[in-house]
Amino acid sequence: MSENVIIIGSGPAGLTAALYTARANLDPLLISGNEFGGQIALTNEVENYPGFPEGITGPELTELMKQQAEKFGARFEFDHVSKVEFGKHPFALETENGEHYDAKSVIIATGASPRRLGVPGELDLTGRGVSYCATCDGFFFRGKDIAVIGGGDSALQEGLFLTRFANKVYIVHRRAELRAQPILQERARENARIDFVWDSVVRDIQGKDSVESLGLVNVRTGGSAELAVQGVFVYIGHYPNTELFKGQLDMNQEGYLQVNERLQTKIPGIFAAGEAHDHIFKQAIVSAGFGCMAAMETEKFLADLEHQGYPPLSPNGKP
Ligand code: NAP
Repeated sequence: MSENVIIIGSGPAGLTAALYTARANLDPLLISGNEFGGQIALTNEVENYPGFPEGITGPELTELMKQQAEKFGARFEFDHVSKVEFGKHPFALETENGEHYDAKSVIIATGASPRRLGVPGELDLTGRGVSYCATCDGFFFRGKDIAVIGGGDSALQEGLFLTRFANKVYIVHRRAELRAQPILQERARENARIDFVWDSVVRDIQGKDSVESLGLVNVRTGGSAELAVQGVFVYIGHYPNTELFKGQLDMNQEGYLQVNERLQTKIPGIFAAGEAHDHIFKQAIVSAGFGCMAAMETEKFLADLEHQGYPPLSPNGKP
């Protein structure tokens, strides 16, 4: 028995794809991954998702999206896809719980994860001063001193954004030379609220209920230092959650899936939506939009497949 469409991932892209494919009567099955909701579910307060003028927490937004998709018949499995076979049709998927599925189409919405520093205190204080999203959390640091870790475009761009709120933004970089493009370097150097801490890596993040200071090590001298800050924004890159598809789908050097303007991968019937392919915008609303697009394209793909004489789609999705 083949599913019409399996959606892998439960962030805004996956949940929106579930809503749209459910409303198209495709009886979608969404396999959530280990963290239901993805990155947005880890955000305390979402103030920039349209429709919620008072803001909404990431978990609440995720739950509402889930309920909305469920209302139209989307089904959810709290499981993690561990293997895919895209070289045959129907496509085959296996999960960590030992389930096997066949699917006529697949929407990959596995998202991306911010790279973590991997230092003591980082995990415990995530959401309590440690953040990976200035757009989401910058507002909470009005008048505070904060550190941004990294020397690339993201660190400088987000550091500049954070000067709208923070009293002081320390950009902590492991070298004495920035990776970021010159125009961002120039703007950052000219900004009186930004100070650079060169040649330094984070040893640990300290704080009882929230971030109080950073332990730094100077990589040239080996000396230690403490930096009193109430927030730490980590911008040392992202990695897309696409390991599972290596060797079967095209991806760029960083692992982002390659899709055309209709979000098709190189295999007809396999679509990607959200941060598994989008390395530019990285916003929940953009991922939701991609989820909608992938769902609409999936619907067309399945209609074409049926037209070619494939077993007709039954209301419950089984041939
Ligand atoms: P990135 O360019 O990979 O830069 C990551 C930065 O983090 C680098 O400075 C790197 O140091 C540092 N880093 C990496 N691992 C670290 C660790 N374990 N501890 C401390 N520092 C560490 O990542 P990104 O800034 O997120 O940018 C990703 C891509 O998006 C790039 O292609 C970028 O050009 C693009 N982007 C463009 C814009 C824009 O055009 N406005 C804005 C954002 C991003 P090293 O320099 O020493 O390697």
